[in-house]
Amino acid sequence: MKRRHFFSMAAAATAACFTRRRAVADETGGDSDEVTYTRKVPVRYEADVAVIGGGIAGVSAACSAARSGAKVVLVERFAITGGDMTSGGVANFCGQLHGQGEVFDQILADLRTFNAIDEDRPVFHYEILAIVLQEMLLRRGVKLLLHTRFVDVREQNGRITECIVCGKSGMEALRAKQFIDCTGEGDVARSAGFATMKGRPEDGFQLPMSMMFFVRHVEAKDAIAQLPQGWFQPIREQSDLPMTSIWPDGPRSNAMKIKIPMFDATDTESLTEAEIQARRRMLEVLDYYQRIEKKPWRLDHCSPIIGIREGCRIVGDYVLTVDDLRAGRNFDDAVARGTFYLDGHKPDDDKRTYILKKSEMQVPPYQIPFRSLLAKDARNLMMAGRCFSADQLALSSARVSTTCSMMGQAAGIAATTSVQNACDPRDLDYAQVRRVVEERGAQLKT
Ligand SMILES: Cc1cc2nc3c(=O)[nH]c(=O)nc-3n(C[C@H](O)[C@H](O)[C@H](O)COP(=O)(O)OP(=O)(O)OC[C@H]3O[C@@H](n4cnc5c(N)ncnc54)[C@H](O)[C@@H]3O)c2cc1C
Repeated sequence: MKRRHFFSMAAAATAACFTRRRAVADETGGDSDEVTYTRKVPVRYEADVAVIGGGIAGVSAACSAARSGAKVVLVERFAITGGDMTSGGVANFCGQLHGQGEVFDQILADLRTFNAIDEDRPVFHYEILAIVLQEMLLRRGVKLLLHTRFVDVREQNGRITECIVCGKSGMEALRAKQFIDCTGEGDVARSAGFATMKGRPEDGFQLPMSMMFFVRHVEAKDAIAQLPQGWFQPIREQSDLPMTSIWPDGPRSNAMKIKIPMFDATDTESLTEAEIQARRRMLEVLDYYQRIEKKPWRLDHCSPIIGIREGCRIVGDYVLTVDDLRAGRNFDDAVARGTFYLDGHKPDDDKRTYILKKSEMQVPPYQIPFRSLLAKDARNLMMAGRCFSADQLALSSARVSTTCSMMGQAAGIAATTSVQNACDPRDLDYAQVRRVVEERGAQLKT
């Protein structure tokens, strides 16, 4: 097949005219519980670096790879980038804001330009963040595919050649030299059959999800009951509330967060159940505040997706452990740094409960090694953000947005350096990667 390049309009037109072949049914019997599915799809996009998932980690990876000179495609299933920070309604940066690298510095600077971030506490306007991120990607020449879901990979001996994505044009292939999995759930690694891990060791329960929703303050007479009788179970006592965090969200408005534990973000039915339960709980909680606490609050909107703290972590060349964090451990191949406490919400409880005692939650600044961003079973797959290689408690700290951005920036730099040196990321001179990471403003010293 003739090679097509995403920067060429003619190529896009050629791809558009590609005659799709219908999926072919093989001889698998109709009563089998498995089917084999075969379909030819056009290779519509080619890139040096393909970043899958456009959360803060993916955007940072794509932007830093582009800055290093790579041709980059970013694949995002929703209409906006930002992931948990935008679609998930989390509008607050945790961890240190300075020294995270030039990509994060640019995000902060652009939010300030819009007067969209509170300087006293780093709460920001997440709709503006979505615009800031998309414009930064476009300025740097990243090819952005929205409404496009990663579906599958073509892989041989640990090397991914293409991934299959599906947007409104149907299924298409994206060919790249290096891939970075920033899906949070390790979708690329799971599709390729690379080793992954999730949840706590004893039963696999992940850190709980939480739903974000927003209320407007209205005159008491306009605060209509949100919970018509007979629909859901009214909450009668404060002790029956799930963990509920409430904070100001601009004038006459609050952001609210409720905990929804015991669901699996990597399982279709379980995630569906979590979304259903979260919206029910949201109405019950709001009804409680209106009816019992007499708050004149009206539902403004709910995040389109539930916030996911932990999905699936990809097993890397090194698995960062909570002991590394407690020791404030330094690594020769450090490329990122964490500065947040061990925020390990208890997986099986909807109250304000944590895995650790309060006295055990603080950790000194710690480093994240490059090897924790290298998928162990792969030759050209790195990961950044929530699905990097760490144990559950290490993730409970490193999952915050600032650290995810730092990991993304490092992965983008390393992927591009690999393309430029025609080698696998594992074969890079780690000191060289680290030098560029530091030159780009990342503070690695602990
Ligand atoms: C309730 C809650 C509160 C939090 N509070 C804070 C806080 O106050 N401060 C803070 O700094 N951090 C907070 N965090 C943590 C932080 O928001 C996230 O851990 C971080 O933003 C994760 O970034 P990420 O890029 O790794 O993943 P995500 O933000 O989850 O991004 C993953 C992206 O990949 C896309 N994607 C997934 N699968 C596919 C696919 N198959 N195809 C295409 N695209 C795909 C998703 O749509 C998404 O855009 C909170 C998290 C939660 C859940």
